Amino acid sequence: MTRILFWIALIVLVVVAVRAKIRALTPKDTGAANRPAREPAQVESMARCAHCGVYFPASEAVHADGLDYCSPAHVRLPKQ
Ligand SMILES: [Zn+2]
Repeated sequence: MTRILFWIALIVLVVVAVRAKIRALTPKDTGAANRPAREPAQVESMARCAHCGVYFPASEAVHADGLDYCSPAHVRLPKQ
């Protein structure tokens, strides 16, 4: 039984020593220094509804008669 405890203690000591050595050799992470620069936020162009004048993302625009509308309902209504 003491032989098993001896080997378990020896293995634990070796693991702790190896981890401490690896930690000592690893360069200190200073946080932002090693991280890649943050990508700029995607900018989406805006469109103005020909009926109500609300600005909304151009990708959501409803196109009709060469104009942009915020919704299909405003396509049917007259321009203001
Ligand atoms: Zn609208």
